[in-house]
Amino acid sequence: MNVFLGMWIVLLSRGIMGRVDWDTYFMEMAYLVSKRSTCIRRHHGSVLVRDNRILATGYNGSASGYKHCSETGCILEKLNIPSG
Ligand SMILES: [Zn+2]
Repeated sequence: MNVFLGMWIVLLSRGIMGRVDWDTYFMEMAYLVSKRSTCIRRHHGSVLVRDNRILATGYNGSASGYKHCSETGCILEKLNIPSG
């Protein structure tokens, strides 16, 4: 998430524009979830929603049981793989 979108979400969440809509609510939640990422290169968060109900959340990082990028260095960065 870019900085502008993050700031926009903060303004909305502080009530400047009233109650946040569902999309803003879920996007802000995805931003929060992204903070759990241990990758040193990128932080991504996701929220899986159906009928305005959260089914799951997730963030990028190493598979369960493996060392994190923050411990071993990011393999994407080591291999010089471009973003995207
Ligand atoms: Zn990484």
